[in-house]
Amino acid sequence: MSKLMFYTAEDNAVEVDVYQRSLQINGGDIVFMADAGYGDVLVITSNGNYRILELNHETAMYLRKNFPYTAPSRVLRLKKTIGTGDRLGVAGVGHIACVKDTDYVPVLAQQSIRELNLTGRSYEDVLDAATFAVFKSGYKKPWGADGDHLKKPEEIEYAISCGYTMITLDCSEYIKTGIEKLDDAQLDGMYQHNDELEAIYVDKSFEIAPGVNISFDARSYKEAVVIYGAALDFIEDMYALYIQSGTRDFEISIDETATPTTPAQHFFVANELARRGVKFDTLAPRFCGEFQKGIDYIGDLEQFEAEFAVHAAIAEKFDYKISVHSGSDKFSVFPIIGKLSGGRFHIKTAGTNWLEAMKLIAKCEPELYREVHAFALDRFEDAKKYYVVTTDITKIPELSALSDEQLPQLFDNNDARQLIHITYGFILSEKDADGKFVYRDRLYAAWHKYRDEYKKLLTEHIGHHIAQLDSLI
Ligand SMILES: [Zn+2]
Repeated sequence: MSKLMFYTAEDNAVEVDVYQRSLQINGGDIVFMADAGYGDVLVITSNGNYRILELNHETAMYLRKNFPYTAPSRVLRLKKTIGTGDRLGVAGVGHIACVKDTDYVPVLAQQSIRELNLTGRSYEDVLDAATFAVFKSGYKKPWGADGDHLKKPEEIEYAISCGYTMITLDCSEYIKTGIEKLDDAQLDGMYQHNDELEAIYVDKSFEIAPGVNISFDARSYKEAVVIYGAALDFIEDMYALYIQSGTRDFEISIDETATPTTPAQHFFVANELARRGVKFDTLAPRFCGEFQKGIDYIGDLEQFEAEFAVHAAIAEKFDYKISVHSGSDKFSVFPIIGKLSGGRFHIKTAGTNWLEAMKLIAKCEPELYREVHAFALDRFEDAKKYYVVTTDITKIPELSALSDEQLPQLFDNNDARQLIHITYGFILSEKDADGKFVYRDRLYAAWHKYRDEYKKLLTEHIGHHIAQLDSLI
């Protein structure tokens, strides 16, 4: 960074640190981002005059209009894409540093409605933060913006109206669970007879790839129809309304459900969507085993590998990519995903970026971390209601037994990771009797102050994700 001095109309000196990578010429204007001490600003100079703009929504719109690389675009058709959910709006520069010299294309803005509610942010905020990070970094490659886990038409419309280039349709409310436990008579009670479908599937076998076959009997066919029938109708309706015009990436999410998507069910969904003329770019199945938040895969690696091979073959046959959700820290399955997909996948991470941000607090502001940690323990039971996690808080070391230097080691402990992971909404929204945030403002001040350190943590940690995904390709 280099320092620059400005004088306001009242002759007050304003000194700013210029982010040199951001420097751009636009017509007769020189435009750059700078640290003004109290925060980052955008500076526009022309003919010796200058304007200093706060980083608000209008400034983001100015950037997207004048510097098209600061606006998102469709990216899912590219080979390796990674969703880097930045819940706080402070990770973008680090994420760009992770991918800029790789063949990974980032989806820098990626947020679900639930995350918006828990963090008190809007879709405008999330996209604007990505735009600022892109401009600040001088990053001129494509990147995407994902309205993640959208369940309702009005949510899709909201994301589209804000300029999101990717829609992830969450079908979980239309997917039936517990069907595999029904006896035949109970299943028949829920199944609606359909001659056309029965002729296609019952006692039929499909060759997905050489040596990879999927077959249905009456039972497995009926289960597929009962579990996914309503979801297929929902997908077809949303496709016709919002996607068919062909201007945005479309991901089908059937992962947020209790029972795994068997390869046969995945094939059924893909084949039925093809028959209905629904085109999409990625599909997220619910894999076997557990993809809990912010920790490694739990489950049978051999079964995962065998099933992932078939999931990947189905995706290949129907020309889309497998999307892996809850991809934070799934190091033991990354090599399998990279290899069996032929290096063609979408992977979503979010929670791990928040955990790295809190690890930064543990490192740099231990007193603040201790406060937040104690509060998280307090709210653990409430937070647990919203997540499927196996966290055992009795396995987390007592804070009083840890020196300040030992605090970051808590992030090597899965139970501590999950504790901090699932309580993020509580931590960020807690207010005192006067309506002031208890932790939020102090956390944001620290994330700004130690932003270079955060960038370093992310580069290492997301870099490790990328290295593992690439390790067998
Ligand atoms: Zn998901």
